[in-house]
Amino acid sequence: MSQHILSVENLTKHYVQKRSFVLRTQPGVVKAVDGIDFALPVGATLGLVGESGCGKSTTAKMLLRLEDPSAGKILFDGREVQAATGSDLRDYRTNVQAVFQDPYSSLNPRMRVDSIIAEPLIANRQVAAVEVRDAVAQVMGVVGLNPDWARRFPHEFSGGQRQRIAIARALVLRPRLMVLDEPVSALDVSIRAQILNLLMDLQDQFGLSYLLISHDLDVIAEMCAEIAVMYLGQIVEIGPARDIVANPRHPYTQALFSARLPAHPDGAANRIRLSGEIPSPLDPPSGCRFRTRCPHVMPICAEVLPPESELPNGQRASCHLLSEQSALSS
Ligand code: SF4
Repeated sequence: MSQHILSVENLTKHYVQKRSFVLRTQPGVVKAVDGIDFALPVGATLGLVGESGCGKSTTAKMLLRLEDPSAGKILFDGREVQAATGSDLRDYRTNVQAVFQDPYSSLNPRMRVDSIIAEPLIANRQVAAVEVRDAVAQVMGVVGLNPDWARRFPHEFSGGQRQRIAIARALVLRPRLMVLDEPVSALDVSIRAQILNLLMDLQDQFGLSYLLISHDLDVIAEMCAEIAVMYLGQIVEIGPARDIVANPRHPYTQALFSARLPAHPDGAANRIRLSGEIPSPLDPPSGCRFRTRCPHVMPICAEVLPPESELPNGQRASCHLLSEQSALSS
């Protein structure tokens, strides 16, 4: 068995865009995800972070097989996911489940909660009705819902409870990996900690691995062992979460994390304000994609793609400043 439950190599998603006079779009190729690599250790949480449009959700869709990659590989337990068919594909769909942002729209309002939770079980396994009932009651208890509420409809629950229903539905097949796409960002602040604690408890209890997609840096810092920072379809920095939070090396990560509120009121927030908009993935800048907004931009940044530099702690970032520093110190 691989020590990484999931790894992606050169994962790429390009969309061909046609000219449309109605939508006023130009022909071209939208580079939504452009050659990313990462690996998620078994039982750990990897956070994918970045501004909206950076490619996080497209990455999730490829992992969930809702989109086919344009290039690259996804490996689950060392086996290639795109090649999976028949029972291998069913195994993958059983082992990889997702929880999405909005518990208000992700649950069918006309279905009762027991049917919502049981649906993946009935679709993927041949189980007797009594076993389905037992499994639903059990998983409702595990996520902190009263099993006596199983015949209710989603609108009879609060936002936090609905997200618990979504988690129960994802958990009922006993997956090994969960893709959590902004799992608490639609919830009241007071409820968020409860759902995050539940997710951490479930991880301990069932040995789950999580790929956590979030733009909320506090959530990422709290939950993740590893962080990958995305900008315009590429990973610009990746490594141990505590090191990246304490000492981000890429100028984009530095700007992103400088916007977090200080942990203590006396702490200074030395916010780095980025100028300009994120460029279009239809026409990304040459060389380093962050150069149009980087406070440290140099002439080489427009000419040459920055190579990835690796620090002894495993933190890796793609920036010419770092490659210059490592050249000076060697
Ligand atoms: Fe900034 Fe240049 Fe580093 Fe890109 S390579 S982050 S533009 S200094």
